[in-house]
Amino acid sequence: MDNWLQKRTQLTPHRLALSFHEQRWTFFELQRQVNGLCTILRPQLPPAGRVAILGDNTPELYFGMLALHQLGLPIVCLNKHLTTPELQYQITDAQVQTVLTTQEFLPQLEAVTTAKSLHLIALDRLKWTPQADWPAQPTDLDALASVMYTSGTTGQPKGVCQSYRNHWTSAMGAELNLSVTPTDQWICAVPLYHISGLSIVMRSLLYGMPVRLYEHFNPQAITQDLVHGRGTIISVVPYMLKKLLAEKQESYSSAFSYMLLGGGAIDQATLDQCEQKHIPVIQSYGMTETASQVVALNPADAQRKIGSVGKPLFPVSLKIANDAQPYQVGEILLKGDNLTPGYLNQPQRMAEKTTESGWFRTGDLGYIDDEGFLYVKSRLAELIISGGENIYPHEVEQVLNQLPGVQASAVVGKTNPIWGAIPVAFLVTTRNWQLTAVQDFLTGKLAKYKFPKELHLVDHLPHTANGKLKRGELLQWLKKNE
Ligand code: ATP
Ligand code: MG
Repeated sequence: MDNWLQKRTQLTPHRLALSFHEQRWTFFELQRQVNGLCTILRPQLPPAGRVAILGDNTPELYFGMLALHQLGLPIVCLNKHLTTPELQYQITDAQVQTVLTTQEFLPQLEAVTTAKSLHLIALDRLKWTPQADWPAQPTDLDALASVMYTSGTTGQPKGVCQSYRNHWTSAMGAELNLSVTPTDQWICAVPLYHISGLSIVMRSLLYGMPVRLYEHFNPQAITQDLVHGRGTIISVVPYMLKKLLAEKQESYSSAFSYMLLGGGAIDQATLDQCEQKHIPVIQSYGMTETASQVVALNPADAQRKIGSVGKPLFPVSLKIANDAQPYQVGEILLKGDNLTPGYLNQPQRMAEKTTESGWFRTGDLGYIDDEGFLYVKSRLAELIISGGENIYPHEVEQVLNQLPGVQASAVVGKTNPIWGAIPVAFLVTTRNWQLTAVQDFLTGKLAKYKFPKELHLVDHLPHTANGKLKRGELLQWLKKNE
């Protein structure tokens, strides 16, 4: 296949490709920036060893990522929130020798270089001249396009190999569902190093669609964009959706289409508020291993099926394990060209996660209704089975979050000799809640077997670098403090 950036530039050179504050680049200008950067990067990059990116969503980083592809190199995506040991682990695991970054992040990376010789390139210090030509290779669909680590919600983050075919399939699946047009403009305030951000870069090239880039998530500025028609689609995770909801005082522009929501479970109360405030939300489900969404609601079904993550996209086959009947909960299984060829340095892991008939075991639990819509219930590892009854932590947390003064909650299953496991709640709260008062509040809202049997008031809950709740750490804490 022709090189994606070159092909896009040939097809629609004068279409807007990227905007950042007041700056704008057409595909022609973007290509020239990337070519110029390639020319000065090439002699600085070692012939072997991988190149990573780390930083905020700046145009330099955007150009840097595209330059790696023009140089025929995969992008190793590093999360800027990682601690020094976490960074050290990923840099070593992915055999990274060079990191493209910006000056602001040099100290964070220099802390890692004490243990390892790393070549750091601050892109905002480089000066390059836009250039018309660069001998980019054709895009080989089976080549490695990116290495991206999972969030580490259930343990050590795993390096996921994402091929160009994975990105291509993902972008085509999204397009066949969403029908994005060249008049759309996708706001990218999710990190470029995460699949939610990288998938927007890939879609931009493949659809010929402009990206409005934000260095960080800025709810006030983004709301202004949405009110004034600067952006028609935005990718959000639950935390971002809640912030935008709180910020919304006036109507969004009629050009605004929808928010694409992914990354984790969302509570019903937030979805209801979105409906009241006329914010169209498209729920989606996916993971690093599937190079972005594999299931998403169709805009036409979004209102009718609130709470569902939608139907499997065109290129994706999905079923619930053990040939479950409609509404029967089981592990979500997947097949399709979105799916990673495997994990970095762990060839056995993919085999372990694949059934005999070739289905990928997601480790997530859900059910499909009688119309084929998927509902995600929990992770298999987080399901609490108490006295033979299934308890989904998220369902209990949604109700606990309605307690006055409660800012956040988490529920985990503690081993118990009689019940197998009992639900234990952790609350971040401004009030001194007692277990019996919490149980009184839950009465009539949840079945009694779902009530927490133990309560801990805490200052904060443990999260991954991507902001996901680490229930496993709470379990370890419980074990230690037994
Ligand atoms: P790790 O694999 O290291 O434990 P992780 O699974 O959190 O981390 P990601 O690939 O970032 O890493 O997240 C994918 C997971 O996020 C899915 O497997 C699922 O558990 C959860 N998820 C994604 N979308 C949704 C959704 N719409 N509703 C509920 N959960 C979701
Ligand atoms: Mg995972």
